[in-house]
Amino acid sequence: MTVDSIQELTVANSFAHLPPAFYTKLPATPLTRPRLLHANTSVAGLLGLSAKALDRSDFLDVCSGNVALSGGETLSAVYSGHQFGNWAGRLGDGRAHLLGEVTGPHGALEIQLKGSGLTPYSRTADGRAVVRSSVREYLASEAMAGLGIPTTRALAIVVGDDAVYREVQERAAIVARVSPTFIRFGSFEHWWNNPENMRVLLDYCVAKFYPECQNAGGPRDVALAFLRHVVERSARLVADWQTVGFCHGVMNTDNMSIVGLTMDYGPYGFMDGFQIDYVCNHSDVQGRYAWNAQPSIMHWNLYRLASSLAVLNIDEDALRAELQRFEAEFVAAYRDNLLRKFGWRYWQEGDEKLVDDWWQLLHAQRADFTLCFRRLAQAPDNPDPWLALFVDPGAALEWFAAYKQRLALEGRLDDERIAGMLGVNPLYVLRNHLAEQAIRAAQNGDAGEIRTLLKLLSDPFTEHAGYDAYAQVAPDWACQLEVSCSS
Ligand code: AMP
Ligand code: MG
Repeated sequence: MTVDSIQELTVANSFAHLPPAFYTKLPATPLTRPRLLHANTSVAGLLGLSAKALDRSDFLDVCSGNVALSGGETLSAVYSGHQFGNWAGRLGDGRAHLLGEVTGPHGALEIQLKGSGLTPYSRTADGRAVVRSSVREYLASEAMAGLGIPTTRALAIVVGDDAVYREVQERAAIVARVSPTFIRFGSFEHWWNNPENMRVLLDYCVAKFYPECQNAGGPRDVALAFLRHVVERSARLVADWQTVGFCHGVMNTDNMSIVGLTMDYGPYGFMDGFQIDYVCNHSDVQGRYAWNAQPSIMHWNLYRLASSLAVLNIDEDALRAELQRFEAEFVAAYRDNLLRKFGWRYWQEGDEKLVDDWWQLLHAQRADFTLCFRRLAQAPDNPDPWLALFVDPGAALEWFAAYKQRLALEGRLDDERIAGMLGVNPLYVLRNHLAEQAIRAAQNGDAGEIRTLLKLLSDPFTEHAGYDAYAQVAPDWACQLEVSCSS
Protein backbone atom coordinates (compact mmCIF):
# COMPACT_ATOMS: atom_id res chain seq x y z
CA MET A 1 0.00 0.00 0.00
CA THR A 2 1.42 3.35 -1.03
CA VAL A 3 0.04 6.86 -0.96
CA ASP A 4 0.42 9.41 -3.75
CA SER A 5 1.29 12.40 -1.60
CA ILE A 6 3.88 12.83 1.13
CA GLN A 7 1.21 14.74 3.04
CA GLU A 8 -0.97 11.64 3.20
CA LEU A 9 1.57 9.56 5.10
CA THR A 10 0.67 8.43 8.60
CA VAL A 11 2.93 10.43 10.87
CA ALA A 12 3.71 9.86 14.53
CA ASN A 13 6.04 11.87 16.71
CA SER A 14 7.46 9.59 19.34
CA PHE A 15 10.72 11.51 19.70
CA ALA A 16 8.77 14.77 19.97
CA HIS A 17 6.89 13.28 22.90
CA LEU A 18 10.07 13.10 24.97
CA PRO A 19 10.40 15.98 27.46
CA PRO A 20 11.22 19.39 25.92
CA ALA A 21 14.82 19.23 27.19
CA PHE A 22 15.60 16.82 24.36
CA TYR A 23 14.99 19.23 21.47
CA THR A 24 13.82 22.60 20.30
CA LYS A 25 10.70 22.80 18.17
CA LEU A 26 11.19 25.22 15.31
CA PRO A 27 10.54 25.34 11.58
CA ALA A 28 13.17 24.77 8.91
CA THR A 29 14.38 27.70 6.83
CA PRO A 30 13.40 27.04 3.21
CA LEU A 31 15.86 27.31 0.38
CA THR A 32 15.50 30.03 -2.21
CA ARG A 33 14.02 28.76 -5.49
CA PRO A 34 14.29 25.10 -4.47
CA ARG A 35 14.60 22.44 -7.18
CA LEU A 36 14.41 18.72 -6.71
CA LEU A 37 17.74 17.36 -7.94
CA HIS A 38 16.86 13.72 -7.35
CA ALA A 39 14.34 11.64 -5.46
CA ASN A 40 14.86 8.05 -4.48
CA THR A 41 12.04 5.69 -5.38
CA SER A 42 13.35 2.80 -3.28
CA VAL A 43 13.48 4.88 -0.10
CA ALA A 44 10.08 6.31 -0.99
CA GLY A 45 8.85 2.71 -1.10
CA LEU A 46 10.13 2.11 2.42
CA LEU A 47 7.97 5.00 3.58
CA GLY A 48 4.93 3.82 1.65
CA LEU A 49 5.18 6.60 -0.91
CA SER A 50 4.42 5.93 -4.58
CA ALA A 51 6.78 7.06 -7.34
CA LYS A 52 4.06 9.47 -8.40
CA ALA A 53 4.25 11.22 -5.03
CA LEU A 54 7.81 12.30 -5.79
CA ASP A 55 6.72 14.39 -8.78
CA ARG A 56 4.21 16.44 -6.84
CA SER A 57 4.95 19.95 -5.66
CA ASP A 58 4.05 19.06 -2.06
CA PHE A 59 7.00 16.64 -2.02
CA LEU A 60 9.38 19.43 -2.98
CA ASP A 61 7.68 21.74 -0.48
CA VAL A 62 8.36 19.33 2.38
CA CYS A 63 11.88 18.35 1.31
CA SER A 64 12.94 21.97 0.87
CA GLY A 65 11.73 22.91 4.36
CA ASN A 66 9.02 25.15 2.92
CA VAL A 67 6.07 23.31 4.40
CA ALA A 68 5.97 21.10 7.48
CA LEU A 69 5.15 17.42 7.18
CA SER A 70 1.47 17.06 7.82
CA GLY A 71 0.94 15.57 11.29
CA GLY A 72 4.61 16.00 12.18
CA GLU A 73 6.33 18.23 14.70
CA THR A 74 9.45 19.85 13.29
CA LEU A 75 12.32 19.94 15.76
CA SER A 76 16.08 19.93 16.20
CA ALA A 77 17.53 17.54 18.74
CA VAL A 78 20.17 18.25 21.35
CA TYR A 79 23.24 16.09 21.83
CA SER A 80 26.85 16.39 22.93
CA GLY A 81 29.90 14.41 22.03
CA HIS A 82 33.61 13.78 21.86
CA GLN A 83 35.21 15.22 18.74
CA PHE A 84 38.65 13.93 17.77
CA GLY A 85 39.07 12.52 21.26
CA ASN A 86 38.07 15.62 23.19
CA TRP A 87 34.88 16.43 25.03
CA ALA A 88 33.12 19.05 22.91
CA GLY A 89 30.15 19.70 25.19
CA ARG A 90 26.80 20.56 23.68
CA LEU A 91 26.49 20.18 19.91
CA GLY A 92 23.02 19.21 18.66
CA ASP A 93 21.34 19.42 15.26
CA GLY A 94 22.99 22.61 14.07
CA ARG A 95 21.53 22.31 10.59
CA ALA A 96 19.02 19.51 10.76
CA HIS A 97 15.28 19.34 11.37
CA LEU A 98 13.35 16.22 12.22
CA LEU A 99 10.02 16.41 10.41
CA GLY A 100 8.26 13.43 11.92
CA GLU A 101 8.14 9.71 12.11
CA VAL A 102 6.36 7.88 9.32
CA THR A 103 4.53 4.71 10.26
CA GLY A 104 5.02 2.98 6.94
CA PRO A 105 4.98 -0.54 5.56
CA HIS A 106 8.55 -1.11 6.80
CA GLY A 107 8.08 0.10 10.34
CA ALA A 108 8.59 3.52 11.84
CA LEU A 109 11.04 5.72 9.94
CA GLU A 110 11.91 9.29 10.70
CA ILE A 111 12.38 11.91 7.99
CA GLN A 112 15.00 14.52 8.77
CA LEU A 113 16.20 17.45 6.67
CA LYS A 114 19.91 18.24 6.74
CA GLY A 115 21.04 21.69 5.63
CA SER A 116 17.68 23.22 6.52
CA GLY A 117 18.80 26.34 8.33
CA LEU A 118 19.83 27.76 11.68
CA THR A 119 18.83 26.14 14.94
CA PRO A 120 19.71 26.88 18.58
CA TYR A 121 22.55 24.39 18.12
CA SER A 122 24.19 26.02 15.10
CA ARG A 123 26.87 27.68 17.24
CA THR A 124 28.89 29.90 14.87
CA ALA A 125 27.96 28.03 11.69
CA ASP A 126 25.35 28.88 9.06
CA GLY A 127 22.88 26.02 9.28
CA ARG A 128 23.43 25.09 5.65
CA ALA A 129 24.99 22.28 3.66
CA VAL A 130 26.51 22.65 0.20
CA VAL A 131 25.59 20.74 -2.96
CA ARG A 132 28.94 18.93 -2.87
CA SER A 133 28.56 17.41 0.58
CA SER A 134 24.86 16.75 0.08
CA VAL A 135 25.49 14.75 -3.09
CA ARG A 136 28.20 12.85 -1.25
CA GLU A 137 25.83 11.98 1.60
CA TYR A 138 23.05 11.07 -0.82
CA LEU A 139 25.23 8.71 -2.85
CA ALA A 140 27.06 7.17 0.08
CA SER A 141 23.98 6.21 2.01
CA GLU A 142 22.57 4.45 -1.02
CA ALA A 143 25.92 2.82 -1.83
CA MET A 144 26.08 1.43 1.71
CA ALA A 145 22.53 0.14 1.47
CA GLY A 146 23.45 -1.55 -1.83
CA LEU A 147 26.36 -3.25 -0.11
CA GLY A 148 24.02 -4.49 2.59
CA ILE A 149 25.68 -2.41 5.29
CA PRO A 150 23.38 -0.79 7.86
CA THR A 151 22.94 2.90 7.10
CA THR A 152 20.63 5.87 7.23
CA ARG A 153 18.97 6.37 3.85
CA ALA A 154 18.46 9.32 1.53
CA LEU A 155 15.03 10.17 0.18
CA ALA A 156 15.69 13.31 -1.83
CA ILE A 157 18.13 16.05 -2.55
CA VAL A 158 17.00 19.62 -3.14
CA VAL A 159 19.20 22.47 -4.34
CA GLY A 160 18.59 26.17 -3.90
CA ASP A 161 20.01 29.48 -5.08
CA ASP A 162 21.35 30.42 -1.64
CA ALA A 163 25.08 31.12 -1.57
CA VAL A 164 27.04 29.30 1.11
CA TYR A 165 30.59 30.23 1.98
CA ARG A 166 33.10 27.46 2.58
CA GLU A 167 36.66 27.65 1.16
CA VAL A 168 34.95 29.16 -1.85
CA GLN A 169 31.39 30.25 -2.48
CA GLU A 170 29.11 27.29 -3.10
CA ARG A 171 25.38 26.67 -3.33
CA ALA A 172 23.07 25.32 -0.65
CA ALA A 173 21.28 22.00 -0.74
CA ILE A 174 19.16 19.90 1.58
CA VAL A 175 19.18 16.14 1.89
CA ALA A 176 16.04 14.50 3.25
CA ARG A 177 17.36 11.59 5.28
CA VAL A 178 15.43 8.61 6.54
CA SER A 179 16.28 6.41 9.50
CA PRO A 180 14.53 4.60 12.36
CA THR A 181 16.29 7.17 14.55
CA PHE A 182 19.02 9.79 14.46
CA ILE A 183 19.90 9.27 18.14
CA ARG A 184 23.66 9.07 18.63
CA PHE A 185 26.10 8.05 21.33
CA GLY A 186 26.38 11.78 21.93
CA SER A 187 22.65 11.99 22.71
CA PHE A 188 23.42 9.82 25.75
CA GLU A 189 26.64 11.60 26.61
CA HIS A 190 24.63 14.80 26.81
CA TRP A 191 22.97 13.49 30.00
CA TRP A 192 26.12 12.18 31.65
CA ASN A 193 25.20 14.03 34.87
CA ASN A 194 21.42 13.90 34.62
CA PRO A 195 20.08 10.51 35.70
CA GLU A 196 16.41 11.40 35.09
CA ASN A 197 16.87 12.35 31.46
CA MET A 198 19.34 9.54 30.91
CA ARG A 199 16.73 7.10 32.10
CA VAL A 200 14.07 8.65 29.84
CA LEU A 201 16.33 8.37 26.79
CA LEU A 202 17.38 4.85 27.64
CA ASP A 203 13.80 3.70 28.17
CA TYR A 204 12.79 5.29 24.88
CA CYS A 205 15.59 3.55 22.95
CA VAL A 206 15.01 0.21 24.61
CA ALA A 207 11.27 0.27 24.01
CA LYS A 208 11.63 1.33 20.39
CA PHE A 209 14.84 -0.23 19.11
CA TYR A 210 15.91 -2.88 21.61
CA PRO A 211 12.68 -4.37 22.96
CA GLU A 212 14.55 -7.65 23.54
CA CYS A 213 16.32 -5.91 26.46
CA GLN A 214 13.13 -5.14 28.32
CA ASN A 215 13.03 -8.50 30.04
CA ALA A 216 16.65 -8.41 31.16
CA GLY A 217 15.68 -7.80 34.80
CA GLY A 218 15.76 -4.61 36.84
CA PRO A 219 16.62 -1.16 35.44
CA ARG A 220 20.38 -1.76 35.72
CA ASP A 221 20.15 -5.08 33.91
CA VAL A 222 18.16 -3.43 31.16
CA ALA A 223 20.81 -0.74 30.79
CA LEU A 224 23.56 -3.36 30.62
CA ALA A 225 21.64 -5.43 28.10
CA PHE A 226 21.14 -2.29 26.03
CA LEU A 227 24.86 -1.56 26.10
CA ARG A 228 25.59 -5.17 25.11
CA HIS A 229 23.36 -4.85 22.06
CA VAL A 230 24.85 -1.52 21.02
CA VAL A 231 28.33 -3.03 21.40
CA GLU A 232 27.34 -5.95 19.18
CA ARG A 233 25.76 -3.86 16.45
CA SER A 234 28.61 -1.35 16.44
CA ALA A 235 31.23 -4.11 16.27
CA ARG A 236 29.45 -5.69 13.31
CA LEU A 237 29.12 -2.34 11.61
CA VAL A 238 32.79 -1.50 11.82
CA ALA A 239 33.66 -5.02 10.62
CA ASP A 240 31.53 -4.32 7.56
CA TRP A 241 33.32 -1.02 6.99
CA GLN A 242 36.72 -2.69 7.19
CA THR A 243 35.91 -5.36 4.66
CA VAL A 244 34.65 -2.98 1.97
CA GLY A 245 37.49 -0.51 2.52
CA PHE A 246 35.20 2.19 3.87
CA CYS A 247 36.63 4.94 6.05
CA HIS A 248 34.06 7.01 7.91
CA GLY A 249 36.37 9.97 8.29
CA VAL A 250 34.82 11.57 11.39
CA MET A 251 34.13 8.88 13.95
CA ASN A 252 33.27 11.40 16.64
CA THR A 253 30.80 10.09 19.21
CA ASP A 254 28.17 12.52 17.93
CA ASN A 255 28.31 10.73 14.58
CA MET A 256 27.81 7.20 15.97
CA SER A 257 24.31 5.82 15.61
CA ILE A 258 22.78 4.22 18.69
CA VAL A 259 21.23 1.56 16.45
CA GLY A 260 24.45 0.65 14.63
CA LEU A 261 23.85 2.41 11.31
CA THR A 262 26.43 4.28 9.30
CA MET A 263 25.44 7.91 9.67
CA ASP A 264 26.60 11.48 9.13
CA TYR A 265 28.50 11.02 5.91
CA GLY A 266 31.10 13.74 5.59
CA PRO A 267 34.67 13.28 4.42
CA TYR A 268 34.30 9.50 4.11
CA GLY A 269 36.20 7.46 1.56
CA PHE A 270 36.03 4.10 -0.12
CA MET A 271 39.65 3.18 -0.61
CA ASP A 272 41.07 2.92 -4.11
CA GLY A 273 44.64 1.68 -3.69
CA PHE A 274 44.89 -0.07 -0.35
CA GLN A 275 46.82 1.65 2.39
CA ILE A 276 46.56 0.18 5.86
CA ASP A 277 46.68 3.55 7.61
CA TYR A 278 44.66 5.38 4.98
CA VAL A 279 43.15 8.66 6.24
CA CYS A 280 40.35 9.91 4.03
CA ASN A 281 39.69 13.17 5.88
CA HIS A 282 42.18 15.87 4.98
CA SER A 283 41.30 17.69 8.24
CA ASP A 284 42.36 14.65 10.31
CA VAL A 285 46.03 15.57 10.51
CA GLN A 286 46.80 13.12 13.33
CA GLY A 287 45.28 10.23 11.42
CA ARG A 288 43.01 9.44 14.35
CA TYR A 289 40.38 7.93 12.07
CA ALA A 290 42.68 5.95 9.76
CA TRP A 291 41.27 2.72 8.29
CA ASN A 292 43.22 0.45 10.63
CA ALA A 293 42.23 2.56 13.65
CA GLN A 294 38.48 2.37 13.07
CA PRO A 295 37.77 -0.76 15.18
CA SER A 296 39.64 0.54 18.22
CA ILE A 297 38.05 3.96 17.78
CA MET A 298 34.61 2.37 17.75
CA HIS A 299 35.56 0.61 20.96
CA TRP A 300 36.72 3.90 22.46
CA ASN A 301 33.46 5.54 21.42
CA LEU A 302 31.52 2.76 23.13
CA TYR A 303 33.55 3.48 26.28
CA ARG A 304 32.31 7.03 26.16
CA LEU A 305 28.73 5.81 25.83
CA ALA A 306 29.20 3.38 28.71
CA SER A 307 30.78 6.03 30.93
CA SER A 308 27.76 8.24 30.49
CA LEU A 309 25.45 5.35 31.48
CA ALA A 310 27.32 5.17 34.79
CA VAL A 311 25.14 8.09 35.94
CA LEU A 312 22.38 5.49 36.37
CA ASN A 313 24.34 4.10 39.28
CA ILE A 314 25.55 1.11 37.38
CA ASP A 315 28.55 -0.75 38.64
CA GLU A 316 31.56 0.20 36.53
CA ASP A 317 32.86 -3.35 36.43
CA ALA A 318 29.59 -4.49 34.95
CA LEU A 319 29.79 -1.79 32.27
CA ARG A 320 33.39 -2.73 31.57
CA ALA A 321 32.42 -6.38 31.18
CA GLU A 322 29.95 -5.44 28.41
CA LEU A 323 32.57 -3.32 26.68
CA GLN A 324 35.04 -6.15 26.79
CA ARG A 325 32.81 -8.14 24.49
CA PHE A 326 33.62 -5.75 21.69
CA GLU A 327 36.79 -7.40 20.53
CA ALA A 328 35.33 -10.89 20.27
CA GLU A 329 32.25 -9.53 18.49
CA PHE A 330 34.35 -7.57 16.08
CA VAL A 331 36.73 -10.44 15.31
CA ALA A 332 33.83 -12.83 14.75
CA ALA A 333 32.09 -10.47 12.35
CA TYR A 334 35.30 -9.52 10.59
CA ARG A 335 36.28 -13.16 10.07
CA ASP A 336 32.83 -14.01 8.91
CA ASN A 337 33.03 -11.30 6.26
CA LEU A 338 36.51 -12.38 5.23
CA LEU A 339 35.53 -16.02 4.95
CA ARG A 340 32.92 -15.11 2.39
CA LYS A 341 35.16 -12.64 0.61
CA PHE A 342 37.92 -15.22 0.20
CA GLY A 343 35.53 -18.03 -0.70
CA TRP A 344 36.22 -20.11 2.37
CA ARG A 345 33.77 -21.98 4.55
CA TYR A 346 35.45 -22.26 7.92
CA TRP A 347 38.16 -20.28 9.59
CA GLN A 348 41.25 -22.49 9.77
CA GLU A 349 44.63 -22.36 11.33
CA GLY A 350 46.93 -20.22 9.22
CA ASP A 351 44.12 -18.01 7.88
CA GLU A 352 45.14 -15.20 10.16
CA LYS A 353 48.56 -15.10 8.54
CA LEU A 354 47.23 -15.48 5.02
CA VAL A 355 44.89 -12.53 5.56
CA ASP A 356 47.68 -10.53 7.12
CA ASP A 357 49.93 -11.25 4.16
CA TRP A 358 47.08 -10.20 1.86
CA TRP A 359 46.83 -6.79 3.48
CA GLN A 360 50.62 -6.44 3.41
CA LEU A 361 50.70 -7.35 -0.27
CA LEU A 362 47.97 -4.88 -1.20
CA HIS A 363 49.48 -2.18 0.97
CA ALA A 364 53.01 -2.58 -0.44
CA GLN A 365 51.70 -2.21 -3.98
CA ARG A 366 48.80 0.15 -3.26
CA ALA A 367 46.71 -2.37 -5.15
CA ASP A 368 43.04 -1.61 -5.68
CA PHE A 369 40.98 -2.74 -2.67
CA THR A 370 37.77 -3.48 -4.50
CA LEU A 371 39.12 -5.09 -7.66
CA CYS A 372 41.68 -7.23 -5.85
CA PHE A 373 38.86 -8.97 -4.00
CA ARG A 374 36.50 -8.99 -6.96
CA ARG A 375 38.92 -10.53 -9.44
CA LEU A 376 40.25 -13.05 -6.96
CA ALA A 377 37.09 -15.11 -7.46
CA GLN A 378 38.08 -16.12 -10.99
CA ALA A 379 41.83 -15.98 -10.49
CA PRO A 380 42.29 -19.73 -9.93
CA ASP A 381 41.03 -20.27 -13.51
CA ASN A 382 42.36 -17.12 -15.05
CA PRO A 383 44.90 -15.26 -12.94
CA ASP A 384 45.86 -12.54 -15.45
CA PRO A 385 43.14 -9.93 -14.76
CA TRP A 386 43.84 -10.23 -11.04
CA LEU A 387 47.62 -10.15 -11.48
CA ALA A 388 47.30 -7.04 -13.63
CA LEU A 389 46.29 -5.16 -10.48
CA PHE A 390 49.78 -5.51 -9.04
CA VAL A 391 52.91 -3.59 -9.94
CA ASP A 392 55.00 -6.55 -8.83
CA PRO A 393 53.13 -9.69 -9.94
CA GLY A 394 55.89 -11.88 -8.47
CA ALA A 395 54.93 -11.01 -4.90
CA ALA A 396 51.26 -11.47 -5.78
CA LEU A 397 51.92 -14.91 -7.25
CA GLU A 398 53.67 -15.98 -4.09
CA TRP A 399 50.62 -15.12 -2.01
CA PHE A 400 48.39 -16.67 -4.63
CA ALA A 401 50.13 -20.02 -4.36
CA ALA A 402 49.36 -20.11 -0.64
CA TYR A 403 45.77 -19.06 -1.34
CA LYS A 404 45.27 -21.89 -3.83
CA GLN A 405 46.58 -24.36 -1.29
CA ARG A 406 44.13 -22.96 1.22
CA LEU A 407 41.25 -23.37 -1.25
CA ALA A 408 42.29 -26.97 -1.86
CA LEU A 409 41.92 -27.70 1.86
CA GLU A 410 38.17 -27.26 1.61
CA GLY A 411 37.80 -28.68 -1.87
CA ARG A 412 34.76 -26.53 -2.59
CA LEU A 413 33.23 -26.70 -6.06
CA ASP A 414 34.61 -23.85 -8.13
CA ASP A 415 31.26 -22.66 -9.47
CA GLU A 416 29.74 -22.44 -6.05
CA ARG A 417 32.77 -20.68 -4.60
CA ILE A 418 32.94 -18.19 -7.46
CA ALA A 419 29.23 -17.37 -7.25
CA GLY A 420 29.59 -16.86 -3.50
CA MET A 421 32.61 -14.58 -3.89
CA LEU A 422 31.02 -12.50 -6.64
CA GLY A 423 27.98 -12.09 -4.43
CA VAL A 424 29.95 -10.45 -1.63
CA ASN A 425 32.83 -8.67 -3.38
CA PRO A 426 31.36 -5.64 -5.14
CA LEU A 427 32.40 -4.61 -8.60
CA TYR A 428 31.23 -1.04 -8.04
CA VAL A 429 31.91 1.12 -5.02
CA LEU A 430 31.51 4.85 -4.59
CA ARG A 431 35.01 5.81 -5.54
CA ASN A 432 35.92 9.37 -4.77
CA HIS A 433 36.34 10.32 -8.43
CA LEU A 434 32.90 8.91 -9.29
CA ALA A 435 31.33 11.00 -6.54
CA GLU A 436 33.27 13.98 -7.85
CA GLN A 437 31.92 13.54 -11.37
CA ALA A 438 28.39 13.37 -10.01
CA ILE A 439 28.99 16.50 -7.93
CA ARG A 440 30.32 18.49 -10.88
CA ALA A 441 27.30 17.54 -12.97
CA ALA A 442 24.92 18.24 -10.09
CA GLN A 443 26.41 21.69 -9.63
CA ASN A 444 25.25 22.35 -13.20
CA GLY A 445 21.79 21.03 -12.40
CA ASP A 446 22.40 17.68 -14.08
CA ALA A 447 21.44 14.61 -12.05
CA GLY A 448 22.41 12.14 -14.79
CA GLU A 449 25.52 10.89 -12.99
CA ILE A 450 23.58 10.52 -9.74
CA ARG A 451 21.05 8.36 -11.57
CA THR A 452 23.77 6.23 -13.13
CA LEU A 453 25.63 5.78 -9.86
CA LEU A 454 22.48 4.88 -7.95
CA LYS A 455 21.68 2.24 -10.55
CA LEU A 456 25.12 0.64 -10.22
CA LEU A 457 25.62 1.12 -6.49
CA SER A 458 22.23 -0.25 -5.54
CA ASP A 459 23.20 -3.49 -7.29
CA PRO A 460 27.00 -3.46 -6.92
CA PHE A 461 27.62 -7.20 -7.17
CA THR A 462 26.13 -7.56 -10.66
CA GLU A 463 28.12 -6.64 -13.72
CA HIS A 464 26.20 -4.01 -15.70
CA ALA A 465 26.99 -4.07 -19.42
CA GLY A 466 28.36 -0.80 -20.77
CA TYR A 467 29.54 0.56 -17.41
CA ASP A 468 33.16 -0.59 -17.45
CA ALA A 469 34.35 2.92 -16.69
CA TYR A 470 32.66 2.74 -13.28
CA ALA A 471 34.55 -0.40 -12.32
CA GLN A 472 38.06 0.82 -12.97
CA VAL A 473 40.90 1.90 -10.73
CA ALA A 474 40.94 5.63 -10.06
CA PRO A 475 42.34 7.80 -12.87
CA ASP A 476 45.40 9.96 -12.24
CA TRP A 477 43.41 13.20 -11.89
CA ALA A 478 41.64 11.71 -8.87
CA CYS A 479 44.86 11.57 -6.85
CA GLN A 480 44.62 15.29 -6.19
CA LEU A 481 41.07 15.12 -4.82
CA GLU A 482 40.86 15.99 -1.16
CA VAL A 483 37.92 15.82 1.17
CA SER A 484 37.77 17.61 4.47
CA CYS A 485 35.35 18.40 7.27
CA SER A 486 34.10 21.37 5.24
CA SER A 487 30.55 20.58 4.26
P1 AMP B 1 29.60 17.18 11.89
O1 AMP B 1 31.08 17.35 11.93
O2 AMP B 1 29.00 17.44 10.53
O3 AMP B 1 29.15 15.90 12.47
O4 AMP B 1 29.00 18.33 12.79
C1 AMP B 1 29.35 18.53 14.14
C2 AMP B 1 28.43 19.54 14.73
O5 AMP B 1 28.48 20.76 14.01
C3 AMP B 1 26.95 19.15 14.72
O6 AMP B 1 26.36 19.69 15.87
C4 AMP B 1 26.43 19.82 13.49
O7 AMP B 1 25.05 20.07 13.53
C5 AMP B 1 27.21 21.11 13.50
N1 AMP B 1 27.36 21.68 12.16
C6 AMP B 1 28.17 21.24 11.17
N2 AMP B 1 28.05 22.04 10.09
C7 AMP B 1 27.18 23.01 10.41
C8 AMP B 1 26.62 24.14 9.73
N3 AMP B 1 26.98 24.45 8.49
N4 AMP B 1 25.73 24.89 10.39
C9 AMP B 1 25.36 24.61 11.65
N5 AMP B 1 25.83 23.58 12.35
C10 AMP B 1 26.72 22.77 11.74
MG1 MG C 1 27.46 14.98 12.71
